[in-house]
Amino acid sequence: MNLSALPSVEKLAQQLVKESQLPKSLVTGFIKRQVGSYRERLMGGEELTREDITAEITTSLDTFESSRLQPVLNGTGILIHTNLGRSPLGHRAAQAVYDVATNYCNLEIDLTTGKRGKRGGFLEESLAILVEAEAATVVNNCAASLVLTLRALIAEGKNEVIVSRGELVEIGGGFRIPDILETSGAKLVEVGATNKTHLHDYEKAITERTALILKVHRSNFYLGGFTGEPELENLFQLAKDHDIPLVEDLGSGALMHTDHLAPIEHEPRPQEQLGRGIELVLFSGDKLLGGPQAGIIAGRKDLVEKIKKEPFYRAVRPDKLILTALQEVVVDYLTLKDNPERLDLVPVLEMLNQTPEDLQEKAQALQEKISDESQIVPTTGATGGGTMPQAQFPSIAVQTAKKPELPHLFTRVEDDKHHTDPRTLRNLPE
Ligand SMILES: *Cc1c(COP(=O)(O)O)cnc(C)c1O
Repeated sequence: MNLSALPSVEKLAQQLVKESQLPKSLVTGFIKRQVGSYRERLMGGEELTREDITAEITTSLDTFESSRLQPVLNGTGILIHTNLGRSPLGHRAAQAVYDVATNYCNLEIDLTTGKRGKRGGFLEESLAILVEAEAATVVNNCAASLVLTLRALIAEGKNEVIVSRGELVEIGGGFRIPDILETSGAKLVEVGATNKTHLHDYEKAITERTALILKVHRSNFYLGGFTGEPELENLFQLAKDHDIPLVEDLGSGALMHTDHLAPIEHEPRPQEQLGRGIELVLFSGDKLLGGPQAGIIAGRKDLVEKIKKEPFYRAVRPDKLILTALQEVVVDYLTLKDNPERLDLVPVLEMLNQTPEDLQEKAQALQEKISDESQIVPTTGATGGGTMPQAQFPSIAVQTAKKPELPHLFTRVEDDKHHTDPRTLRNLPE
């Protein structure tokens, strides 16, 4: 055992802090913890020299520093890339967050009376108007909105939730519908077959213990071939006849018709589903909507109110920064409704809407930035993020043998070549 191989924390910190943007206390603390683990390894009999240890700690500090959240360049062409933070926020919404964050704000004060006001009141009202629902509310993410909704709408002796076997999906990040039901205290009642579920399958499953019927949008895979499910209108009638709420987890939830933006499949809109008889829709804030991470619950007023009264609501309510960001995105959508050309307000929609000429121009600008030999090739883009699984739309990419030397650039590698799709590149570095 050669503990003398351990470097001096102080000396190494002095050296490494110069190459880092991190505060000295953080660098020192990090090195201390690393040295501690090398001490254990040496005591365990590993043979390491001081040079080995110093080099490894230097690399680890680099890795640690680069894990700090920061902007990156998305050259993958995947619009809603969960690993890259899903949707970028528009400038107006980001500026509003900055202003509210660095000041006090009217979070729970009514500015007209000076008395206690309703938290998120503006957002809830605007959202309800936007998605044409009686009421709406917001929690931290769509997964939380589902857990909360289930908890609020089930009761003792009435906790059965009917779901089609074709919709028992895993979304990613460990989100599986059967598990979510279980943690929420609901009892899953599976009906139908993977590819086909009939109205009478639902009908047979209804008992006095049925709390609700849950539909789950198959957002990240596609079911094709010999398939079928009841018309929503008929399912709604069935639920209504038995006085059972019909809830749909939409996942992404496109607020705008996206069909015309790119030749891609139809993503159901919350307002459309509510209009067809769904009584509550749940959807994400940071998928195709293009806002911050959030889960939106919209639909029947009595159900939304019941959900807000569930004690768990308090545990998953968003903070003022998320409320501000989402509120501004909702305002942007309502502005967009009046001015359909203003797609620039919502970056995700703007990127989806880029013309071949726009893309060509961006690709050429990119080519000028990179010194390597490159060519512009046709490729396909995707929405990603569990949205429109089949959607592949024509795009172009700058193809290079090596990855272009731009800071934190992510590309798509096909046939051993790097493809940088200009569609999802936000700001090229100067
Ligand atoms: C993405 C998705 C979720 C989870 O949404 P988060 O906002 O990430 O929690 C839930 N359900 C469906 C159908 C989804 O596509």
